[in-house]
Amino acid sequence: MSRVLASSCYRTAAGGQIRRRKFATGTFDDPIVNLRTDLQPKPEPGTIVFGRTMSDHMFRCDWTAEEGWGTAHIVPHEPLAVSPACLGLHLGISCFEGMKAYRDPEGCTRLFRPDMNMKRFQASLQRIALPTIDEAALVDGIRALVRTDASWVPEGDGFSLYLRPMCFASEAYLGVGVPQTATLLVACAQAAPYFKGGMSGGIRLYAEPAAVRAWPGGVGSHKLAGNYAPTITSMRDARAPPNSYDDVLWLFGDDRQITEVGSSNFVAVLANNDGSAELVTAPLSRGDILPGVTRDSLLHLARRMGADGLSVSERTLTMSELASAADGGRLLEAFGCGTAAVISPVKSVSFDGCEYFCRESPGPWAQRLYNELTDIQYGRADGPAGWSVRC
Ligand SMILES: *Cc1c(COP(=O)(O)O)cnc(C)c1O
Repeated sequence: MSRVLASSCYRTAAGGQIRRRKFATGTFDDPIVNLRTDLQPKPEPGTIVFGRTMSDHMFRCDWTAEEGWGTAHIVPHEPLAVSPACLGLHLGISCFEGMKAYRDPEGCTRLFRPDMNMKRFQASLQRIALPTIDEAALVDGIRALVRTDASWVPEGDGFSLYLRPMCFASEAYLGVGVPQTATLLVACAQAAPYFKGGMSGGIRLYAEPAAVRAWPGGVGSHKLAGNYAPTITSMRDARAPPNSYDDVLWLFGDDRQITEVGSSNFVAVLANNDGSAELVTAPLSRGDILPGVTRDSLLHLARRMGADGLSVSERTLTMSELASAADGGRLLEAFGCGTAAVISPVKSVSFDGCEYFCRESPGPWAQRLYNELTDIQYGRADGPAGWSVRC
């Protein structure tokens, strides 16, 4: 299972071998590597459960208001020592990212659009008064981490190493205050296909009538830890028997605008009268939608399918429009999209006592988008410049 990366994976843009410095500088892009000696056993590929098995190492850098960022390290993945008064724990001054490292056909590891994750991380950090970062340098630090734990990047379609950059206010203070110290970490866990065979036969959604995930003027467009805690009870209740839905469809406003599904973006494909199809997803302009890298990438790929009869709209879609499209046979496809599951086809949406049905299996547009996107992520096809980055 563990496999040594081909040495050709370590070529610089100029084609030469990357020179290993004798002493690392300890900056974001050149962390000091402290390898563990008690390497952890890896699960058999068939037994990998998403997000449960951590890799051997993590990236760590600490910050203080006085000194700025300290020395960056790659260290063994192990429990932290934090004060019980840690601001990040009780005030939720904490944000995170989600991205993946993929293994390409040459056996090398790759990241997908890491610049977009870092841009979003920067926006999250700023929103909660955490320190700013050098985005490009942190991408290089993450690449160094993936090279260190390359043997943890599983092979095969749908398999990857999930990367979780995060930052939290670390100081001990039981008041409310602007963070004076912070800890930035990047942890890694193995990821298996969310659904066997790439995509499932479809998830059943419960349109949440009461609780709201995010609202204009709120922080739903940032990946803040505090956005997720209040969603867990809705998820738990939706999944409870006897209905056993798979996830929550989040609505906003008196007109029941559809916003997101679980913690992924929502996309519907509607039939137009002229036989063409319209791919619809909520606009980012209202401020209540998380700007997904998957969302952005799928919109880009979908816009190239115009000649095949697909148009793309970033516009408000209400629950009543979705319901009447489903009733009228014009709801061709619906799916959630995000890094973890890529595309999750939606089989049905339950709202106000009625269940609106879509389709049992992934639709042709979802399948085509899934294939194109994952081919780029796994380095099987070239994408737009800068999308797939070798570690
Ligand atoms: C992370 C996340 C997404 C998906 O973003 P990707 O960059 O595509 O992984 C969508 N919605 C919410 C609420 C999220 O937290």
